[in-house]
Amino acid sequence: MADYLISGGTGYVPEDGLTAQQLFASADGLTYNDFLILPGFIDFIADEVDLTSALTRKITLKTPLISSPMDTVTEADMAIAMAKFEQGFITDPVVLSPSHTVGDVLEAKMRHGFSGIPITETGTMGSKLVGIVTSRDIDFLAEKDHTTLLSEVMTPRIELVVAPAGVTLKEANEILQRSKKGKLPIVNDHDELVAIIARTDLKKNRDYPLASKDSHKQLLCGAAVGTREDDKYRLDLLTQAGVDVIVLDSSQGNSVYQIAMVHYIKQKYPHLQVIGGNVVTAAQAKNLIDAGVDGLRVGMGCGSICITQEVMACGRPQGTAVYKVAEYARRFGVPIIADGGIQTVGHVVKALALGASTVMMGSLLAATTEAPGEYFFSDGVRLKKYRGMGSLDAMEKSSSSQKRYFSEGDKVKIAQGVSGSIQDKGSIQKFVPYLIAGIQHGCQDIGARSLSVLRSMMYSGELKFEKRTMSAQIEGGIHGLHSYEKRLY
Ligand code: IMP
Repeated sequence: MADYLISGGTGYVPEDGLTAQQLFASADGLTYNDFLILPGFIDFIADEVDLTSALTRKITLKTPLISSPMDTVTEADMAIAMAKFEQGFITDPVVLSPSHTVGDVLEAKMRHGFSGIPITETGTMGSKLVGIVTSRDIDFLAEKDHTTLLSEVMTPRIELVVAPAGVTLKEANEILQRSKKGKLPIVNDHDELVAIIARTDLKKNRDYPLASKDSHKQLLCGAAVGTREDDKYRLDLLTQAGVDVIVLDSSQGNSVYQIAMVHYIKQKYPHLQVIGGNVVTAAQAKNLIDAGVDGLRVGMGCGSICITQEVMACGRPQGTAVYKVAEYARRFGVPIIADGGIQTVGHVVKALALGASTVMMGSLLAATTEAPGEYFFSDGVRLKKYRGMGSLDAMEKSSSSQKRYFSEGDKVKIAQGVSGSIQDKGSIQKFVPYLIAGIQHGCQDIGARSLSVLRSMMYSGELKFEKRTMSAQIEGGIHGLHSYEKRLY
């Protein structure tokens, strides 16, 4: 009777499915398509599922989604949109001086698309606040007035509502609401300008409750660096710009170079969170955890544009890689990112169910409006380019990709990726909400109210998996139709 569990009053329910430990006990490497999760019991609505999850030891995200550091996936537009654009205190706004002209304001407005420019004595932050110029001050001026000095048109300091440095965002919000102004300058004891807050951004704060922000309510931002000498300069510039987390970008992270870089960063910037990788085994993870990383990126050869396994003979099927590394790293409190091979929202749920805290996506986010590059047409289909950072195409054009895939002494470049194209997916403003809702529905079917519950169900053995034969995979896909249209959201 050892196989049977008592389930309430109606009798015995046979033990069913495999625990994660049993699923990965055999030597075969498994991909996301090789298994399914058995459904559980639903007693909550999908919308309630809490997707809060750790990116690193100290940084938590409200949704477990990250875009890949690739030149056809993530530049500023993608980073901002992924973090759900909004701002709290703006510490580097456009500032002008009283001796600038109305023409300068119009030019700034054209370039940056806003009005409401604070005026300080020297035209820089940190200098005494003397006024503000809003569109109301200049809207009715004629063309000939463009040379008028701002000292003549600005709203002077004496008429401004300001807030003292140290004010909380909540207090600043209340002041803005009372004053009914568009901008709130923040000044220190010497009346010098240290930040401003914009009403429009506060509105966005309200509209984007899932945004990932640091303690100053600024968007969280990560950046990738390599492990060479000149990367130390990039690192300095990134920290000056306020980066929150550094990703050491390497296809095989278990190296003396990466370990030395982790030591270097931790010594120079002890508070900076560092993600190491990529790794696919516990042995690789051990060295980077010992060196002091705060998170690990897992995946080798599973990316959609990747030919690493074919060329280097190294790598690991991603399901196994995620489970093995996560299971080891959790003992040290190090969260892992499942990087690459995510083709569907179901794959995201599977990665999280295998112990990943977040997932990193390249192809899934490529060809969205926010991805870098222009759309082009081929055979009437609207496409954007998507390429591996280890493709010859990328290595010939980008020094950062060379660093990831090409060692200093190498004479011949060995491609580890390809360059291709992906069909237009529209904006991530629609796509990411679809991913979020999809993950919540997956968790609901499993019976997990949050990602932390999902992980503990997996480690306790309550979460059950099943392997999929080839024919099971065919059955699980669309089949037997003459034609169909697959619309996802
Ligand atoms: P995807 O989401 O399946 O498209 O995979 C994206 C991931 O593939 C990235 O986050 C990188 O870890 C990895 N990657 C990027 N460029 C290359 C390459 O040229 N070769 C192998 N892997 C790559």
